Amino acid sequence: MFDNLSDRLGGVFDKLKGRGALKEQDVRDAMREVRIALLEADVALPVARRFIDAVTEKAVGQEVLKSVKPGQQVVKIVHDELVRTLGGNPDDPQAALAGEGLTLEAKPPVVIMMVGLQGSGKTTTTAKLGKLIREKHGKKAMMASLDVNRPAAQEQLAVLGEQVDIATLPIVAGQQPVDIARRAMESARLQNFDVLLLDTAGRLHVDEALMAEMKAVSSVSAPTEVLLVVDSLTGQDAVNVAQSFTDEVPLTGVVLTRMDGDARGGAALSMRAVTGKPIKFAGTGEKLDAIEAFRPNSVADRILG
Ligand code: GDP
Repeated sequence: MFDNLSDRLGGVFDKLKGRGALKEQDVRDAMREVRIALLEADVALPVARRFIDAVTEKAVGQEVLKSVKPGQQVVKIVHDELVRTLGGNPDDPQAALAGEGLTLEAKPPVVIMMVGLQGSGKTTTTAKLGKLIREKHGKKAMMASLDVNRPAAQEQLAVLGEQVDIATLPIVAGQQPVDIARRAMESARLQNFDVLLLDTAGRLHVDEALMAEMKAVSSVSAPTEVLLVVDSLTGQDAVNVAQSFTDEVPLTGVVLTRMDGDARGGAALSMRAVTGKPIKFAGTGEKLDAIEAFRPNSVADRILG
């Protein structure tokens, strides 16, 4: 994960760490290289700028430059700023486990609405979460596909449901998304499911029809969580998609898929700062247990190697 960024930053910091004393200009030169590394990793420009400003302000402080190992202190400052940018708290790694933040304690069935573009990994992530909710939270989940646009989308969820042994709402041909959502809620209530995962339709692009459908489904199902699924490999596009959804539906968090193949890290680093929404989970593979709580501290550790 984030190999290129790690390599670039590693090179910059090796130079800094090897030196006994640092001057303000050394820090500023290093930060220029860090800025380039962030932009090459497809981090959004305002986020990269804010990052560099925050690190420079702290790193050129007198105590840092006069300390015994100023280079290492600068690296620590960069690490802590990475954690903050990813939505965590560097002083309290436990409190920063954003991924543990699924709200499941409301009156059952607790509705989790999954939204996102086609191909982002939404259906796969829905099944992964159904499994995780049973295994990590000890709760019984049902899944329903509201995707009437893509042929066989509902069947795809049913197949995944069988693989992870999570119930899916029986398919009724011709039913529209809002009616499927109502039927799913009724069915989940009657069968005493704790959680209902609604896999909504995707589109190739964000458009008005999609947003209208998301709003209608949200208003009949009153979701406790609205999770946006985005493909981390799409970099800044993922952040733009998140921004469009944030403006229209009340997102409670983001799932970044394909983190297993993301060598750059731009989406992860920009997402929180641009959208204000926590990254709750990272998808790390095609298998149905390849999902992890997103941990800002360990991602920052991995970036800095
Ligand atoms: P949807 O159109 O958004 O519902 O997307 P799908 O759930 O059908 O996923 C599209 C493809 O991406 C499938 O082949 C999935 O196996 C794959 N996929 C989903 N999440 C991940 C992930 O975290 N890592 C990898 N490598 N592949 C994933």
